[in-house]
Amino acid sequence: MLTLAERLTATRAAIQAECLRLQRSEPTLIVVTKNHPVSLAQDLYALGERDFGENRVQEAEPKADLLADHQNLSWHLIGQLQTNKVKQALNFASSIHSLDRESLLLELQKRTMDIPNALDVFIQVNLTDDPGRGGISETEVLQFAERVAATPTLRLRGLMAVAALDVPPVHDFEKVANLSGKLMKIFPAASDLSIGMSNDYLEALQFGATHLRIGTAITGNR
Ligand SMILES: *Cc1c(COP(=O)(O)O)cnc(C)c1O
Repeated sequence: MLTLAERLTATRAAIQAECLRLQRSEPTLIVVTKNHPVSLAQDLYALGERDFGENRVQEAEPKADLLADHQNLSWHLIGQLQTNKVKQALNFASSIHSLDRESLLLELQKRTMDIPNALDVFIQVNLTDDPGRGGISETEVLQFAERVAATPTLRLRGLMAVAALDVPPVHDFEKVANLSGKLMKIFPAASDLSIGMSNDYLEALQFGATHLRIGTAITGNR
């Protein structure tokens, strides 16, 4: 069985090789540490990783507290954020990749009112026809982005998406990359694209991913 260091090295090497092939710059690698003990994040930090992703505030906050003395470490919230957890999230998260609905935007606006540059945010796009899946529908993203961008305490970084499982990931990545192009015409600074997980990060790189969210390929199953 491979060690954590070996899986990390292999994943980083694959990312680097693909970036070289595509002649593009390397993305930010967010290692998703959810469902793992804090020791995993500690080990990853010792191996040089500085960006960690978590789904749930209840799990992430204690980990962030335990690693509070680690320099330059960023916690990214990537799962659906309940509005009643926003206050807690602001204690430790540097960015939220899952800004996926109106009520969350309103709560973020309310809670960050007195905090300049409180948070980086990505708008999560729902690429399916199923409104039950998380995210802002494609047709509403630009309008929603106007309101996010008009919030001085939030820094709109760009878009986030999770590829559907029932179609090849390139299908969804192409859609979100096109949408990102439209968004950048209005907000040039909102140029980031948070796409790509363990099973589709190479495809995500082809479509301009600037942030990969990789869990099991690095951390192993749990
Ligand atoms: C868990 C999770 C990931 C990481 O998934 P892996 O398949 O383990 O790489 C990425 N993004 C989101 C939103 C997740 O919930």
